Amino acid sequence: MNKNEPALVLFSGGQDSTTCLYWALQNFSTVHTLCFTYGQRHSKEIEVARAIANNADVSFQLLDASIISKLSVNSLTSDIEMDQEKPEDSYPNTFVPGRNLLFLTFAAVIARSHAIRHIVAGVSEADYSGYPDCRDTFILSANASINLAMDEHFQIHTPLMWRDKTAVWQLADELEVFDIVRTQTLTCYNGIIAEGCGHCPACKLRQQGLENYLKIRRV
Ligand code: ZN
Repeated sequence: MNKNEPALVLFSGGQDSTTCLYWALQNFSTVHTLCFTYGQRHSKEIEVARAIANNADVSFQLLDASIISKLSVNSLTSDIEMDQEKPEDSYPNTFVPGRNLLFLTFAAVIARSHAIRHIVAGVSEADYSGYPDCRDTFILSANASINLAMDEHFQIHTPLMWRDKTAVWQLADELEVFDIVRTQTLTCYNGIIAEGCGHCPACKLRQQGLENYLKIRRV
């Protein structure tokens, strides 16, 4: 894609951003990862992310974005019970308002300071979890606004945008990191690595995608 240029990956150590990390390694000259802390329930996430970045031999930068958890109450950054299903008339309380807009803005400022213009984010509209800031229109709009704000030419890449979870597993397999993604990443809202707790919304989505993919996987 832009094999002579470096990229910055928004990285959490989950299935999606880990797949994006390896996608970026195939498509850019150098890859840097940026991981946000914002009072997640499970700080273990950060250690998992760091270990994956080390294994992939890419740089790992941690940025304290905990201001986000002070701005509004949600179940990812506080002790309130997590919604298991999307409420009909609102977003699930795992939704952190403004998160991706803030993260992309922070990422762009950091990328600029390293003369990086490619930013990779693992958001997806296909297995749409009800989050407005995972939609393609939002990403395009944020990309345009950030470029205008800094008079730059950033390109935000979202390789998972139109892939459902089954297709994300398939991509990991094509990148030859299926086992790494399966055994080392942390997607579970209850902080359990790999297959997770099995019953939170993130685990259900991941597991369903895996089962579907294993049915069609060529061995
Ligand atoms: Zn879980």
